[in-house]
Amino acid sequence: MTHQPDAGGFDKLAAELTERRQQHLYRKRRQLQSPQQPHLRCDGRDLLAFCSNDYLGLANHPQVITSFQQAANQYGVGGGASHLVIGHSRVHHQLEDALAEFTGRERVLLFSSGYMANLGTINALLDKHDAVFEDRLNHASLIDAGLLSGARFQRYLHNSVDALENKLQRSTARRKLVVCDGVFSMDGDIAPLPEITRAAADQGAWVMVDDAHGFGCLGENGGGCTEHFSLNTDRVQVLVGTLGKAFGTSGAFVAGDEVLIETLIQHARTYIYTTAMPPAVAAATLISLKLLQAEAWRRDKLQALIARFRAGANQLGLQLMDTSTPIQPILIGDEARALELSAQLEERGLLVTAIRPPTVPRGTARLRVTLSASHDEKDVDRLLDGLAECCSDESSNG
Ligand SMILES: *Cc1c(COP(=O)(O)O)cnc(C)c1O
Repeated sequence: MTHQPDAGGFDKLAAELTERRQQHLYRKRRQLQSPQQPHLRCDGRDLLAFCSNDYLGLANHPQVITSFQQAANQYGVGGGASHLVIGHSRVHHQLEDALAEFTGRERVLLFSSGYMANLGTINALLDKHDAVFEDRLNHASLIDAGLLSGARFQRYLHNSVDALENKLQRSTARRKLVVCDGVFSMDGDIAPLPEITRAAADQGAWVMVDDAHGFGCLGENGGGCTEHFSLNTDRVQVLVGTLGKAFGTSGAFVAGDEVLIETLIQHARTYIYTTAMPPAVAAATLISLKLLQAEAWRRDKLQALIARFRAGANQLGLQLMDTSTPIQPILIGDEARALELSAQLEERGLLVTAIRPPTVPRGTARLRVTLSASHDEKDVDRLLDGLAECCSDESSNG
């Protein structure tokens, strides 16, 4: 007799999947068959993509690749153990030191991913005696981290310093932590950090900024939003960066004072109970950090492409967000319509992802266009031509 574990339960899962498909919320994966770059090969087709977070074009940079290969020859591939056992290699440590200098912080701690950095950090700092205040458009990893911590969880209106101040004033928690994205991943706007950090300081709260999309793109040296606004550790006590975006590699880091980093080494469970990132990734990141700092032309080119895109999209009457970061969403609203537009663009060889709930609030589905220094002007023009053909009905001027 065949044993059928929980067959009834799985029928219910199948029904939920069908319902999700009907609501145009079903997610499917594509298969990339080339490096991550604007002109890529995907599911057997050549496409021009505007959806990666490789903002500076470093993911496939020859020097970054060579460094990775050489380090793999020297250190092998696997990290082999957690950092606290025997997985912490010299090159990890060198990268931490280099990132500390880059961010102007005393110390840096590497994590295997941004999700894990956020989960580990908030949970190491807070428990049920504390309160966490999060922008309601924060990245899912920050929301999950706050909820898991057991601290009193409070969301404030997007970028509203008044709403935040109000909640901070009413809190009697032992420890208060304000948490926000530096650049919001689905809207592309920048948090008003000078005001947020002032409000937090007035109320004795700490500030944690996840600058996954700011590093490399903002600030004269690519130091992200804390460089852009000149905010040191007195104002932003916990600074998070991810390495899988503008750095073009993989992993994440937390930067801050000695006491913060030592606390995380002792208590951050996503740091302690996981295998160290492959040392070759750290070696590759040392080179991408060098390129990110030295080659300011990448940021300049990116800004020029962003300006070109915005001018063209405005001329088409498309609804953009008020931002000059490489995240340039086009607001559509309806989920089915966003999917349809994305499919029509793809027929023209253009890859732009439709972002739908629950990643963004209901009724705010969008085409999330991201630009990279590895795009050319003619790539942006091709996108604008495609948008002109597909999106004439979306025009906000009729
Ligand atoms: C991408 C992202 C993360 C997750 O980083 P990974 O290294 O990909 O896990 C965290 N926070 C924000 C704001 C992000 O955009």
